[in-house]
Amino acid sequence: MQQHRARKRFGQNFLQDSRVIHDIVHAVNPQPDDIVIEIGPGLAAITAPLAMKLKQLHVVEIDRDIVAYLKTLPFAKQLVIHEGDVLQFDFNQVAGKKKIVGNLPYNISTPLLFRFSEFVDDIIDMHFMLQKEVVERMTAMPKSHDYGRLSVMLQYFFEMENLIDVPPEAFSPAPKVDSAVVRLIPHTGRIGIAQNFSHFSQLVKQAFQQRRKTIRNNLKDWADDAQLTVAGIDPQARPEHIAPECFVVLSNHLLPNFSGSL
Ligand code: SAM
Repeated sequence: MQQHRARKRFGQNFLQDSRVIHDIVHAVNPQPDDIVIEIGPGLAAITAPLAMKLKQLHVVEIDRDIVAYLKTLPFAKQLVIHEGDVLQFDFNQVAGKKKIVGNLPYNISTPLLFRFSEFVDDIIDMHFMLQKEVVERMTAMPKSHDYGRLSVMLQYFFEMENLIDVPPEAFSPAPKVDSAVVRLIPHTGRIGIAQNFSHFSQLVKQAFQQRRKTIRNNLKDWADDAQLTVAGIDPQARPEHIAPECFVVLSNHLLPNFSGSL
């Protein structure tokens, strides 16, 4: 579809570098019977080579014009097209353990990443093109500049690996930022299991409320020094110094006496 004008509001930067496309499909390693969902197929840069290897491919696309275009493709019969906003999409409507793939619209990538934790048990793996800066935050280790709430919450659920760095020229139009492809594979309980996920999640959110303040200060309504120390946390430390597993221990430790609402 040569005449499609990229829509900024849908984060449309279409992949045009065949090497990068090849490397993504190679990383996904689709097998004919795999259940694969692609988010934002766009002009089918990744969709076409994926469809070649699969019996069926689910795609979720918000842009009506693109949906109409997808229906004209030679492999359209293999596509199950879900038209709409992926943030509203019920991934459970696609039964079975799935692989999820996407060159994601960068404007919705963070809320979308948080959503996957809701059905993590049904995910085999996920491969996403994201802003490189976001991938660095996802995979950051404690004590590094990029480490924060996103790192803790995603590391709680997933092993993550930065696979490919992608420069702006790989896309049309070229975005203003560098990109990277990241792989996420669910793990169970590697950093402990939060007895109440909602409590854990809100605790982590509160802990990083003001990054430059101490954990004692950020969590002053949640925990006293003794409780922090029991969880292996120095009350004077900044939140970015605290490992994901310490947040799990702290949440579990605080839970019996927690009187707030979740
Ligand atoms: N996969 C194509 C590629 O690699 O060239 C297109 C990638 S482009 C960065 C993002 C795609 O996601 C576009 O097709 C856009 O229309 C679609 N999109 C944007 N926001 C969306 C949303 N909320 N739900 C579903 N699709 C969305």
